[in-house]
Order: sequence, then C-alpha cells, then structure tokens
Amino acid sequence: MKNPTPRQKAIVRLVSEKENVSIGDIRKSLGISQATAYREIQSLTQIGLAAKIPGGIGRLETSSRHCFQCGTETNSRVPFVIEQEDGKQLVACCAHCGLMALTRLADVRSAMTTDFFYGTMINACRAWYVVNSNIVLCCKPSVLSFSNQDDALLFVKGFKGEVANFSVAQKKNRELMKL
Ligand SMILES: [Zn+2]
Ligand SMILES: [Zn+2]
Repeated sequence: MKNPTPRQKAIVRLVSEKENVSIGDIRKSLGISQATAYREIQSLTQIGLAAKIPGGIGRLETSSRHCFQCGTETNSRVPFVIEQEDGKQLVACCAHCGLMALTRLADVRSAMTTDFFYGTMINACRAWYVVNSNIVLCCKPSVLSFSNQDDALLFVKGFKGEVANFSVAQKKNRELMKL
C-alpha cells in the first residue's frame, strides 16, 4: 500500500472527525482547488483509506485497514470480525485481538473468526482455538481458530499450543497477556 501524503492524511483526519466531508469542506480547510480536492479524493479511495460518497468522501467502516484493537494493519489472513448492535463492524487482525476485544465490548451482535486451515469465516463462539502455539502470525500469545476440535488437536501435534473452546481460549489468552 502506498503511504498517504501529508495532505491526504489531513483529509483522512477530517473524515474521521466528521464522518462525511464534502469537496467544498476539503477545499476550504486545506485551501486547495476543486480539481486538487477531487484528485485527492480519488487517490484516497483507491488506497482504501476512505469511501467515496456523492460530492465528497466518507469514513470507511467495514474495510478499515487497521486492527481496531492493536492498530496493526489487518491485511492478515485471519481477520476476526465483530458486529455491534448498531450494525457497526469492527475488524481485528486475529483471534488474539478479537477475543481481547470481546472481553470489554458489551453491545456485540455477532463475532466471526477465520478458520486457520480453510480461511472460511466461522462463528467465533462455536469455534475451537489453539492458544500459544509456535505459529505467530501477528499477536502474542498467538490464537488460531478452527471449525472443529479434531483440526485443532491435529494442529497442536505439530505446532504446540493448547486446544480450547471459546470461553477457555478467552481466559487463557488474557492470562498469558499478564505474564
Ligand atoms: Zn490486532
Ligand atoms: Zn493479531
């Protein structure tokens, strides 16, 4: 991903403060021409830092590029997606961050995690987890998700770690963080 220029960062800041920003707003607050504002909007939506709305630019909700829990880039192959009661989606980089976030979030409608073997999205509450294995994708302790217990048991034979269901994994994950 290309890094945003200082001007583009200023626009992203505007968007994060106001949710939706018109071309006119951007022109005024940055003192740039209509054409430049338009060009910046184009490139920001191309890089994926904002969403295009009629006549301006808006905050990106679902495909935000950073883990809402730890801030690392979520181009991870094991995203953990939490949907809140108001329909807002929060994307975490991995099950480690997802489980940590679920311990503090109250208004959760659903939580989906990614099966480590198959890459499919599965219900986080019914998934099986391997905590603290040798395979660390981003966060430590590593937490990987599996759709069934057998896959998880097979995995630990090769890569260590402990097999746990949702609530046990959440507890172990938290405990290991404190060490
Ligand atoms: Zn994270
Ligand atoms: Zn992570």
